[in-house]
Amino acid sequence: MSGSPLLPSNPGADGSKTEAFDVVSLIDDLLRKAIHAGASDVHFEPTSSAQVVKFRLDGVLNVVEKLPKSLSDNIIARLKVMGDLLTYRNDIPQEGRIELTGDHGDVIDQRLAVFPTIHGQRAVVRLFYEEAGLSDLEALGFSEGICSVLKQIAQKNQGVLLLTGPAGSGKSTTLGALLGYIMRKFPGKSIVTLEDPVERHIDGVTQVQITPHGEMTFPTALRSLLRQDPQVLMIGEIRDAETARIACEAGLTGHLLMSTLHSGTPAAALIRLLEMGIEPYQLTSSVSAVVNQRLARKLCPQCKKKDTEADTYEPSGCEDCFQTGYKGRVLMAEMVQLDGELRQALLAKADLDQLEDILRSRGHMTMVQDGMRLVGQGVTTRSEIKTVCGNA
Ligand SMILES: [Zn+2]
Repeated sequence: MSGSPLLPSNPGADGSKTEAFDVVSLIDDLLRKAIHAGASDVHFEPTSSAQVVKFRLDGVLNVVEKLPKSLSDNIIARLKVMGDLLTYRNDIPQEGRIELTGDHGDVIDQRLAVFPTIHGQRAVVRLFYEEAGLSDLEALGFSEGICSVLKQIAQKNQGVLLLTGPAGSGKSTTLGALLGYIMRKFPGKSIVTLEDPVERHIDGVTQVQITPHGEMTFPTALRSLLRQDPQVLMIGEIRDAETARIACEAGLTGHLLMSTLHSGTPAAALIRLLEMGIEPYQLTSSVSAVVNQRLARKLCPQCKKKDTEADTYEPSGCEDCFQTGYKGRVLMAEMVQLDGELRQALLAKADLDQLEDILRSRGHMTMVQDGMRLVGQGVTTRSEIKTVCGNA
């Protein structure tokens, strides 16, 4: 990033006048800026020649400042004071909490971690924000087609809906939005969630904290919960064969069950369930749909530039987006609904290639194609889709 608005106008080319520099305000300003931008982490990284400051914005680390190396010790010392750490110990990792005074919006907690490296100490401040309410299903970025199928499934009193995607792909936000939709549409429904950990409190929902190494494991809780007769069940994640089996049974016996699964494509998720020991007939009669999702960064609306030739938008960079060209994130997804043909194939013990072939032959809308819809709308870029999907 060119220009350093946080530095004094003329600190001296070699940084020699920095002793008089106000490190306290520098750190306060940086943290305030980070919070204003909604950054999740602020990194203070020592290199051989500078102390580099990075913000993690929408999941991506961006360099926002390169401060003179001569400031490094003062910066780390100031952070340690703020975090109530031992300022005289530079040789051990330390962790603490920071309390910011003044107007710091919706930040509820800040953690500091300091670590010694060969170029000096490295510090990371992690920022935690107040949870916003449940997102609207319509506002997540799903295509109209996927959104309307999700609504149909959410209205049912049976079946299993699975979300797949890596960590940080917005799966719990989608689950939350689905619960919100069900609560608005059917206010009296009995909804229970099993989570590890409970990420946010939802009014009107019975939430259960799972202790994977204690007595309240997913299978134990799920088995006895079914006797409590909930109508809608949300399981944070299906991690083991037993949970998968009980989940499928629940979906078959008058419960709508929603959960997530670590897996690549929707077809791979179906195969994974079979590999976990779910019988093909159980799978085909319980699973309604599998949605695979990712988050792509949205173009900054303040500075995106139109590429008239390609009829798309490109990132530019402005103060508002810390010169990244992007601000906020949008969901892209692909969905597979189990229909007659797929059920037949699964019952005939089709493998992954065969399932993918069936989907291809019927013009299944892939994740990349869904991403290109967002590119066409000027919401994100082809290169972002490429980064997120690994090909495009
Ligand atoms: Zn911008």
